[in-house]
Amino acid sequence: MQSFSFHCHTVFSDGMNTVEEMILAAKNAGFTHLGISDHLIVPKMSDFSEKIDSYRQHVQHIRSASDRFNFPVYVGFETDYFPQDGWGEALRMFKETVKADYLLTGNHFVSGEDGEYYPILKFPWQEISAKEANKIISKHFQNISQAVRSGLFDFLAHPDFIRWSSPCGETDFVAERMDIIEALSETHLPVELNTKGLRKIGDFYPANWMLKEIAKRKIPLLISDDAHDITDVGSHFDLAEKRLSETGNVVRIDLATKINNALQKKSA
Ligand SMILES: [Zn+2]
Ligand SMILES: [Zn+2]
Repeated sequence: MQSFSFHCHTVFSDGMNTVEEMILAAKNAGFTHLGISDHLIVPKMSDFSEKIDSYRQHVQHIRSASDRFNFPVYVGFETDYFPQDGWGEALRMFKETVKADYLLTGNHFVSGEDGEYYPILKFPWQEISAKEANKIISKHFQNISQAVRSGLFDFLAHPDFIRWSSPCGETDFVAERMDIIEALSETHLPVELNTKGLRKIGDFYPANWMLKEIAKRKIPLLISDDAHDITDVGSHFDLAEKRLSETGNVVRIDLATKINNALQKKSA
């Protein structure tokens, strides 16, 4: 069974537990290492600068907790992708400045007809026409493809999270979701099998048909618990392993190797 996760949250963003409590939970779950990935949501480029101090402190806090618990912890951030000129470069600079180890792109917003961004879970889907909803969801998936192709991220989180709250069902928007898979295949960007979907909609993210396409293309994959509290740590990894063995030929990845190699290169 996979004994790590690179996707979890603390009270720094929308998690329920502290860094220390999450590390302890990972140790208790038999993990060998952990990646903590609180949210980084920056729709306006000017918002990067005001976040720097608190994010840098958070990174240092995790590093010192990792030392105190004598347990390897990597620091990442889960980032929505906002495509505007210069945004990617600003994100790269931000990551360097706060000294984070990795970035995952997890997308929780849709862009409305008015060009504003709205959280998917609070979007008034009932109040708009089916045609309008289709346009918004299609654009959301295209945005994820763009995020994958941007080269900014270390893996893709929950590609079809939007199923949680929108008219998008398991087998809708196939062309758009296939394009995300094509983008992953072109860029060799890893993707996660997210067990939070099981807790929210009774199914993994991504849907099973997507997982099969991912396996066919040998796209590297890791299991994520997307833990928001200590009871979520390692949650449903047994079912995730079962799903992966049923799928067959899934290429697995542990980001630790990549991160450690990058760190070694830097210090050399
Ligand atoms: Zn997320
Ligand atoms: Zn998350």
